[in-house]
Amino acid sequence: RAKQQGRGRLSFYTEEMNSANRARQRMEVELHNALERGEFLLHYQPKLDTRGGRVTGAEALLRWQHPRRGMVGPADFIPLAEETGLITLIGAWVLREACRQTRCWQLAGLPGLSMAVNLSACQLQRDELLPLVREVLRESGLAPECLELEITETAIMRDAEEAVPLLVELKAVGVRLSLDDFGTGYSSLNYLRRFPLDSLKIDRTFVSEIHSGMNEGTIITAMIAMARGMKLRVIAEGVESEEQAEFLRAHDCHELQGYHIGRPMPAAALEALLRAQRAAFELTAS
Ligand code: C2E
Ligand code: MG
Ligand code: MG
Ligand code: MG
Repeated sequence: RAKQQGRGRLSFYTEEMNSANRARQRMEVELHNALERGEFLLHYQPKLDTRGGRVTGAEALLRWQHPRRGMVGPADFIPLAEETGLITLIGAWVLREACRQTRCWQLAGLPGLSMAVNLSACQLQRDELLPLVREVLRESGLAPECLELEITETAIMRDAEEAVPLLVELKAVGVRLSLDDFGTGYSSLNYLRRFPLDSLKIDRTFVSEIHSGMNEGTIITAMIAMARGMKLRVIAEGVESEEQAEFLRAHDCHELQGYHIGRPMPAAALEALLRAQRAAFELTAS
């Protein structure tokens, strides 16, 4: 009887693993077709400049409009795209689309907008990334200083020795470089000094500690001071309340990003926001 049960359980697990494998394989095929079928799209999350009180930048965030499952977020398919190598093609599409859209807004008279694009660790290949960035800038006509590349601390540290020369060359192209999810990885401050970065994006876990009774934002205050000491711009991610925004302004954080400022939104919605902002500033200026 025990033997029977054991066998039953074994076949149950095998069945489950098979179906998990099949689901994964199906997903892989779908991911492959998604590019050709135009199922990817970008949402844009605004970044607020605390000095001028305006939205001066946005971050492109990838979405997959799946025919059956609806809108799928990056956490649910980027890991698979990275494993299968598809991220190279998808990442190139993201870069191209984000630059095209930004240039389009500039030409429509919504100037001053810089666009941030996230890169995977696998995209940090000198021979592929440099020509891609150059080509996309040329083809879109976007000025390099309007493009910001966001690289996570973990991705950069995966091969820090290789990363340094690549980042130096990207800087020579003129794009901006930003360290994403800062504080969640293990970058030594010594390395940080060697990367030609323009800004640090403080991970939202530290923002959520502000006024939480945990440590009253002492860590984030120290992070801002350190970044400023290194002449880097500081962006706080995941700002969800006015109290957090107030605290960050008071501590001289350069830019704020988070649901309290604006959620990631379709291109048309960000365009409407930019137009409304321009109209409001023209009113106060006259
Ligand atoms: P990330 O670059 O750190 O982006 C911030 C994530 O936090 C986004 O999730 C955003 O929607 C979310 N977020 C923004 N404000 C708030 C807030 O106030 N509260 C909370 N709880 N969350 C907030 P999303 O869009 O699901 O993206 C997740 C991650 O996927 C990104 O983290 C980024 O690492 C990656 N990703 C997104 N698009 C791309 C892409 O085009 N290429 C690559 N390689 N990675 C991407
Ligand atoms: Mg990012
Ligand atoms: Mg982040
Ligand atoms: Mg993140």
